Amino acid sequence: MSISRRSFLIGAGSGVAGAVIGAGAGIGFMTGQGWRVHSSVPRVMPVQTLAELPAEADVVVIGAGIAGLSTALFLNEKGLNTVVLEKGVVAGEQSGRAFGWIYSNGWDIGKLELTNQSKSIWQGFAARFGEDIGFRRSGNFTLIGSDDEVDMHNEWLKAALEVQPGMDSKIVTGADLDALIPGAGGKFKAALYQASDGTAEPVYSVSKIAMGAMREGVRIIAPCAARSVEREGGKVAGVHTEKGYIKARYVVIAGGAWSSLFAGNIDVRVPQLTLSSSMQRLSRIDGALPGAGYGPDFAWRMQTDGETSVGVGMSASPITSDSFRYLLDFWPTLKYSGDLVKVRLSQDFFRSLRMKSRWGNDEITPFEEVRMLSGTVDRKENDTALANLRRAFPQYEKAVVKEEWAGMIDATPDSTQFVTDVPDFPGLFLITGFSGNGLTTGPASGQMIAEMIAGEETTCDPAIYRFNRFTDGSEFVFRY
Ligand SMILES: Cc1cc2nc3c(=O)[nH]c(=O)nc-3n(C[C@H](O)[C@H](O)[C@H](O)COP(=O)(O)OP(=O)(O)OC[C@H]3O[C@@H](n4cnc5c(N)ncnc54)[C@H](O)[C@@H]3O)c2cc1C
Repeated sequence: MSISRRSFLIGAGSGVAGAVIGAGAGIGFMTGQGWRVHSSVPRVMPVQTLAELPAEADVVVIGAGIAGLSTALFLNEKGLNTVVLEKGVVAGEQSGRAFGWIYSNGWDIGKLELTNQSKSIWQGFAARFGEDIGFRRSGNFTLIGSDDEVDMHNEWLKAALEVQPGMDSKIVTGADLDALIPGAGGKFKAALYQASDGTAEPVYSVSKIAMGAMREGVRIIAPCAARSVEREGGKVAGVHTEKGYIKARYVVIAGGAWSSLFAGNIDVRVPQLTLSSSMQRLSRIDGALPGAGYGPDFAWRMQTDGETSVGVGMSASPITSDSFRYLLDFWPTLKYSGDLVKVRLSQDFFRSLRMKSRWGNDEITPFEEVRMLSGTVDRKENDTALANLRRAFPQYEKAVVKEEWAGMIDATPDSTQFVTDVPDFPGLFLITGFSGNGLTTGPASGQMIAEMIAGEETTCDPAIYRFNRFTDGSEFVFRY
């Protein structure tokens, strides 16, 4: 999901970030429909990690979400001794709170190469790890209501096929659409459909990838917050952590919503803001929608257990001290993202003023104070999404809301992640700022970082993900 017409998955939130660590079923509250579980606790399958910090590694990866874990998998494959540090819960932040789309249908043309490569990697994980990790090639739909939109999607299709001739996206209408989604052919002009797109199961997919990585030799240490990066002769020399020091030749910052704060403390400027997004899970019903898709102001995903996840179409950026720090960086974003991003004043502003932005290697850092960043569910947005889904597909009147959750998304000004070295900091790499699409693009981005560190040619072109794209005088391109 990106900040775009395709970015329904960035739901509007109240902008009040929750910070919780622990285990449990969540906080239940009664509604007209029965119990809802509001998950501000880890939603993910727990992973047994290592407790002791090794003295040395070739590469230290900071963050055990899909980005850090994918990077570690590919580094390990290349024979580089890799340690992943996780301050809280493996996949406990965005990677375990995502909606679960793995897709390239309707994507920014420049990102299709990386996205399609990622889909192939996801496809290979089950064989690689010898178990079902929850990935399904279950298809992705954009339901289209008007002729203008059909034209717009046809234009996208033409451009996409020019750069990726093998893509299987197509416009389907009438009886063909009905065969895929019963009843949709009569309600919608058409759908942009891609059969090879898929879904993952955030509550366990990334945990299982972590377990597979450990079986292959990656060492994951948790909970263990990285505090800072040590330099010797200008180059990376190691990482200071809450458990002591680990020597390393390379460091990869894969800290999701925290990367900018971490990098700032070592004088590396990473323009990134957090956006709040809310989701919900509905009980099984007869006639549930297949695969995943986007309708008018709602999004759905069929889960592997037959329940349906539902998301919405706006995003909320709580105003924090970063909003002012990165004001100029994000100025063009407001223009290009239209009304898809709301900016809200909330308690986050006052919280962010209290949060340290500088610390010493022996001080407690914000990473230790906030072990797991969740978000506060925006129930109004969730209710609106559900009402829109029910209007289009009345069979969902029978569905009961079983869970609501939120997550904080790391967004960059151009809605594109950094997958890059840091030019003035030899040995330091960044894989962050996925802007709501990292569950899809994390694996191929991690592969690219591993290739950069190994000094190999990258499988995908890294140009649009480079570090200095906002400062090298090139044209600003908002990629959605
Ligand atoms: C509600 C929601 C829905 C989404 N839906 C989709 C979707 O359908 N499809 C899609 O492609 N993407 C989706 N996304 C986006 C996707 O989840 C993220 O882009 C992706 O998970 C980012 O992965 P990551 O590894 O970069 O970050 P994260 O998963 O957030 O992991 C970063 C990790 O770094 C750790 N960390 C941070 N700082 C430190 C430190 N100093 N020391 C040690 N550890 C540290 C954190 O604790 C965290 O576990 C969604 C996101 C949200 C919130």
